[in-house]
Amino acid sequence: MKQNGTSLNTLHRNGKGSDQNVTETNGVDIALIEQIGDEHVGSSYDTPLRENAFEMSDTEKMEKIEYHFREIMETMGLDLTDDSLSGTPHRVAKMYVKEIFSGLDPKNLPNVKLFDNKYKYNEMLVEKDISFYSNCEHHFVPIIGKAHVAYISSGKVIGLSKINRIVQYYAKRPQVQERLNVQVAEKLKEILQTEDVAVLIDAKHLCVSMRGVEDISSSTVTAHYSGKFKEDQTRNEFLKYID
Ligand SMILES: [Zn+2]
Repeated sequence: MKQNGTSLNTLHRNGKGSDQNVTETNGVDIALIEQIGDEHVGSSYDTPLRENAFEMSDTEKMEKIEYHFREIMETMGLDLTDDSLSGTPHRVAKMYVKEIFSGLDPKNLPNVKLFDNKYKYNEMLVEKDISFYSNCEHHFVPIIGKAHVAYISSGKVIGLSKINRIVQYYAKRPQVQERLNVQVAEKLKEILQTEDVAVLIDAKHLCVSMRGVEDISSSTVTAHYSGKFKEDQTRNEFLKYID
């Protein structure tokens, strides 16, 4: 895959395990969805958002999600008058909007302050083992992983915790791992005003372990290298640090 002259390398396994008996179409091409199965095809590097994505307030979104989640639970036969279940639609709606999918809304993009690179440190800076939780956009179950990020300063540096926050911002969306990888890399390039950025993500997809092929040991590795990180020497140095 290519974007802006940078490359994205992906290493992952294919899953099988789609239900074969679904026939209802409901306005969508179920046959196509079944054919794609668990291949986790991503369509673009921008999160597909509706044009009116932010017309509703967070409160309005939560009310709507709460209503629909109640419908889902009742459809499954759950008794929402039970004390343990009655608050669930509200909790899920709040969690979606305010927590695990809060990265859909640009107003939640971390505010990043740049500093001058006073020490003239012009070697590679590596921030490794940045843990994150995301959710697979094909199944809405968690992706749990670590991101390793490196850059070579063009004269500006950012606070280290901001790299974590940028990873987490993009993770808090329905995602595919390749897209998460590119979104983090592109944002860092933009902020740091350099092409010399590497982002490697190693993650477990619960849609592969808790369902489908039910493989609990595999993980998916994606990497995005640009600028000097396309050169073997620089890339190998980065890989050595995160090993
Ligand atoms: Zn999935």
